[in-house]
Amino acid sequence: MDISIVQLNTFMYAWIGLAIVILPIQFFITAPYGRHYNTAWGKSMSNRWGWVIMEAVSIIGLSILFLGAPGEKSLFAWVAYGLWALHYVYRSFIFPFRTRTKDKFIPIGIVASAIFFNLINAGTNGYYLGYLETYTNDWFFDLRFIIGIILFITGMLINFFADNYLIHLRNGNPNVYLIPRGGLFEYISCPNHFGEILEWIGFAIMCWNLPALGFAVWTVANLVPRAWSHHKWYRKTFSDYPEKRKAIFPGFL
Ligand code: NDP
Repeated sequence: MDISIVQLNTFMYAWIGLAIVILPIQFFITAPYGRHYNTAWGKSMSNRWGWVIMEAVSIIGLSILFLGAPGEKSLFAWVAYGLWALHYVYRSFIFPFRTRTKDKFIPIGIVASAIFFNLINAGTNGYYLGYLETYTNDWFFDLRFIIGIILFITGMLINFFADNYLIHLRNGNPNVYLIPRGGLFEYISCPNHFGEILEWIGFAIMCWNLPALGFAVWTVANLVPRAWSHHKWYRKTFSDYPEKRKAIFPGFL
């Protein structure tokens, strides 16, 4: 099936529009996994394997489309593919085995909706990078590439170190939650979500195409409300939670 750039972009406008509609709704419906886990969404499965399955879709989907596309690819397309792969190989096959969440569950409904979300985002980005891209080597000297890759790497490091800190915080006991302290945690409750948003905004600037922008907008639509729910939960759970700390954007929200 051949999809033209006009068709793909038309779809992307609709997909981005949907994210903008869903963003405010997500402030009222907290996705029930992690600390917000409950059984209201029906049957559950192992949290660890749920993460592996839902996140692996992203790297497998992107790889099938990108690597399976005929013809030569630009060097930049390989760089973009490599960065996506770096993030998602870690997120799918390493992160779930590092979290201290043994015997925890995740609703199958959450896993299914994440699979759908990842299929669309990996599908649109993979199709663009495999079949439609027209980057030349001059792109590596473009300000958009330079700003984008700096944001991507900065966001990735913030996300990795914040997740790493949280993983070690509970000292092995899956049911313990503590107040995170130090570094960016002094300013916001969820530096891991902030880093992830920075990362995909950087990717969108670096790639300068609508599928990459779509993924960044959806990441904002998912993670800003999730960080807000985490922040409310922290305030409710710990009476000594730092007053001035914001949810996700230092000094702002
Ligand atoms: P959380 O911050 O809720 O949890 C990260 C890990 O740390 C979990 O294992 C969690 O355990 C543990 N943890 C968190 N806070 C504490 C605490 N105060 N005390 C002890 N342990 C703690 O992250 P998410 O589950 O929301 O997301 C995980 C990663 O996936 C993040 O990097 C996020 O950016 C990314 N993500 C990306 C999305 C996207 O749209 N691109 C969507 C969702 C997530 P437990 O699970 O038991 O609570």
